[in-house]
Amino acid sequence: MNARPTSIIGDDPREWAIDAVARLHREAARSADTHLLHATFPGLPGIDFYFKDEAAHPTGSLKHRLARSLFLYALCNGRLRPGQAVVDASSGSTAISEAWFARLLGLSFTAVMPATTAPAKIEAVHALGGHCELTGAGTCPQARAKEIAARGACFLDQFGLAERATDWRGNNNIAESIIGQMQRERFPEPAWIVCGAGTGGTSATIGRYLRYRGLRTQLCVAEPTGMAFARGWHARDHDARATHATCIEGIGRPSAEPGFLFEVVDEVVEVPDAASIAGMQLLEHHLGRRYGGSSGTNLVACLQLGEAMHRRGESGSIVSLLCDRGERYDRTLFDPQWLSRSGIDPAAWLQRLRAIADGDRAQD
Ligand SMILES: *Cc1c(COP(=O)(O)O)cnc(C)c1O
Repeated sequence: MNARPTSIIGDDPREWAIDAVARLHREAARSADTHLLHATFPGLPGIDFYFKDEAAHPTGSLKHRLARSLFLYALCNGRLRPGQAVVDASSGSTAISEAWFARLLGLSFTAVMPATTAPAKIEAVHALGGHCELTGAGTCPQARAKEIAARGACFLDQFGLAERATDWRGNNNIAESIIGQMQRERFPEPAWIVCGAGTGGTSATIGRYLRYRGLRTQLCVAEPTGMAFARGWHARDHDARATHATCIEGIGRPSAEPGFLFEVVDEVVEVPDAASIAGMQLLEHHLGRRYGGSSGTNLVACLQLGEAMHRRGESGSIVSLLCDRGERYDRTLFDPQWLSRSGIDPAAWLQRLRAIADGDRAQD
């Protein structure tokens, strides 16, 4: 099933690594950049919104970039040998992208993920030939992935390495791509870039790149209320822990990850889960396509920042990310029955967000 593609290279580790790196370069060359979608809201005149469509990657999320970088990082550090199994801990999106790249390189892949992961994500990993090990509430997926690695697998370690596996100075990282795509816009230097923090890799890359390029753009992390990035950022405390759990996958970590670079983040906006889901529904209404929960969290923060700019009489641009495809949540966040079973009612939030976007402030 996961047999390595026939190769004339044989099993010489260095020759195999050269071939594997070349395969990753070819994949990058075949890939197009993701769209930067433009939107305006009648209630926030003078502010241009942009959404970087990371769902458009072949594996459906911004983790496509990360998985490519993690495999390259493992190969260039001499940590990945021919035929070696690969393992990582993931809440799902990374696992799908890593399974895809493992298949590209002919390696067997195991994802350790929480049993609560959206079923569509688990199915996607299986469809790519990956294995899934689901952990219960008491088990830390990272610790379990390390155990598997101790038996000989290569631990890709997204949470440990995301922040350094990406080339923050450029090499078409997400920040360089956004700033390049903004070049001909009305406000090419964004007032804000808004992203979430899962591994912290995206916020670290954007924050560093803004400084490197000498831009005055501020970076905002949109975070489910009470989660570890927000708590850690306020207190500059890397031992921060979340106060509860979130149903928004990909962000809202229970504890501060090694890749959380608090110093490059200018603002954190905390968003209740019901508001994120309302944001997700509003995105579908405005963009005509479904995106996941963390994209909704980002939209809520964008509208909040936009409203504050509007109140101060400022104009400018706000850029955010569409992190993954909404279809992954058809049976969870997009399912009204699932929502009511989970005790989440986004209706009041949807009304509030619509009031901001449409300028219908009488309802506010
Ligand atoms: C990983 C992830 C994020 C956060 O990105 P990081 O670079 O890991 O901080 C946001 N949304 C989704 C859907 C993700 O999978």
